[in-house]
Amino acid sequence: MNTHAINRLVFSTYSASQPAAGTADLVANKVREKLLELAVIQEPIIGLKDSYGLGDGFLQQIIFMGCSPAIELEVPDSIDSNELNFSFARLLHVQDLAPFHGYDFSALQQVPRCRQCRRSVAPDRQAFIDLLEASTNTNTDKQIVCRACNTAVRLAELDWRKQTAWGNIFIEIFHVYPHEAVPTDAFVQHLSDVSQTPWEFFYTQADPQFIVSK
Ligand SMILES: [Zn+2]
Repeated sequence: MNTHAINRLVFSTYSASQPAAGTADLVANKVREKLLELAVIQEPIIGLKDSYGLGDGFLQQIIFMGCSPAIELEVPDSIDSNELNFSFARLLHVQDLAPFHGYDFSALQQVPRCRQCRRSVAPDRQAFIDLLEASTNTNTDKQIVCRACNTAVRLAELDWRKQTAWGNIFIEIFHVYPHEAVPTDAFVQHLSDVSQTPWEFFYTQADPQFIVSK
């Protein structure tokens, strides 16, 4: 599927709360059932892996700012994967906590914030890249030292300013521009209740880089 550079709103299990290992399949199923029950999604789209058309409940749970949303909710009869100009949802999961964009930080515009001191972990983008390069931890539990408060913090626990996230379950909604739409509190609560873990969301154009479990 050619999804590169399509704007999207992505929901992610909240990374500061480590989800229980080995439960991603089970929890992802529960999340899918809840999305169907809320009619946020409908049946799977034939020819698009892990993807679903959006249902009647979508515009009740996701609120678009400004005037009427310019999104196409109708799934076409035949799918041209080079021309995905309608909105749909894709559900992805990995067994272990993973960064949605891997360690490719080229899509980031802003330096992430430290959740300890609430300030940027580095004064500018280059200083942040330098911090990453100075880190010697393994990829799965990489830590950096926040330049503002001098505390060692896990990358997974940084506040990425709604640009990316670490998680093990992701719900992507295609064709939502950055900050064009936000979920209701009730929707995020539904996700938390069904998965027993908190969720967050972010906006991106870039495809996920992690290895999706089979
Ligand atoms: Zn700090």
